[in-house]
Amino acid sequence: MSKIVIIGAGGVGNVTAHKCAQLPEIFTEIILASRTLSKCEAIATDIVKKQGRKIRIAELDADDVEATTRFLKIERPKLLINVALPYQDLALMDACLAARVNYLDTANYEPLNEAKFEYKWQWAYQERFKKAGITALLGSGFDPGVTNVFCAYAQKYLFDTIETIDILDANAGDHGYPFATNFNPEINIREITQKGRYWDCGKWEEVEPMSQHRVYDFPVLGKMDAYLLYHEELESLSKNIKGLKRIRFWMTFSQNYLKYLRVLEDIGMTSIDAVDFKGQQIQPIEFLKAVLPDPASLGPRTKGKTCIGCDIEGIKNGVKKRIFIYNSCDHQTCYEEVSSQAISYTTGVPAMIGAKMILRGLWKRPGVWNVEQNDPKPFMEELNKRGLEWQIIELPAS
Ligand code: NDP
Repeated sequence: MSKIVIIGAGGVGNVTAHKCAQLPEIFTEIILASRTLSKCEAIATDIVKKQGRKIRIAELDADDVEATTRFLKIERPKLLINVALPYQDLALMDACLAARVNYLDTANYEPLNEAKFEYKWQWAYQERFKKAGITALLGSGFDPGVTNVFCAYAQKYLFDTIETIDILDANAGDHGYPFATNFNPEINIREITQKGRYWDCGKWEEVEPMSQHRVYDFPVLGKMDAYLLYHEELESLSKNIKGLKRIRFWMTFSQNYLKYLRVLEDIGMTSIDAVDFKGQQIQPIEFLKAVLPDPASLGPRTKGKTCIGCDIEGIKNGVKKRIFIYNSCDHQTCYEEVSSQAISYTTGVPAMIGAKMILRGLWKRPGVWNVEQNDPKPFMEELNKRGLEWQIIELPAS
């Protein structure tokens, strides 16, 4: 019997709940808990329709550690899947410690008033999780998540030494709106408006936001404009891939998206500094989120494909080798299966697979771990079975 609790009824929570519901032999009981009960209800109704399964729902404020602990002690799940927002990570880890429940998330902790993406706060829980005999699996989405597993797989099976990694995230989907983000707008815009950073020869290099650009020829999608960003998996992979000289992260954006973003930035709408509005303190970016299309509503309108992967170069048997290992997803196919576009799909599926790894005991070990610190093979096998098939192509070495 493996009862699980999923926290967060947004785009990713929806996919995670659908995908877990497809495996009744693993996830014998599912509770979806979130701040707004009506969103849980809508997902539960859709799961009955599409997966033929009933899940339970609950209203919960994940920032309230005592209330979450009480809830976990009553329900006694084997695992909590956190697909709320990065702000809730530490509160949920505290509640899991108090109730001795295993923990999984897809994004690292971020303080509400500072756009800082670092693992240090969550890695600091290592000894407490070890002592409590429970597992925390960090970053089990696509990027971070599958990209980390790709790197671990390449390290173990495809290379003797990995020298450079470029993670490339392309979305060629079109939702028909002039401007919208594919996942939580606040989290997305905070991520892309900060300075770019990459790891080179043992130290971090910083560049102005969106100042480094390249054209990458993606399988399936063709040539697209990609921009260098900081992304959280760079921090853990730079530690966990031995001998690595350089790691960078690139994301594609259309010129149209960048034009709107530039205007929003220039007029202060992407700021996280609170301003006084009619006697109330509000963050402009929070207000912006309220007026932009809800990412969950993009599903039925989005057409096209994604392609996310790792361009890895290194040495095998004394010879230079370069590969691109990737997955490509079709927005409409995802929508038909779980009522979601591909961005939430590519995050929710690996969240479910990570949960399965823990519940089956394959990735269950006390402490706090990033996904690449586990055996990549069973996870890679699951990707092929659960809707995220991967491919490898050989590229000419530089
Ligand atoms: P959404 O904004 O669509 O959903 C977030 C959900 O969390 C909402 O239902 C929200 O409730 C709920 N929530 C927020 N605060 C609380 C709280 N205090 N207590 C309970 N529930 C709360 O976000 P997404 O689904 O797009 O993203 C979910 C997570 O996935 C984020 O952490 C994001 O960073 C991560 N992500 C990871 C990716 C990866 O590849 N690793 C890619 C994309 C996303 P309400 O509706 O009431 O606001």
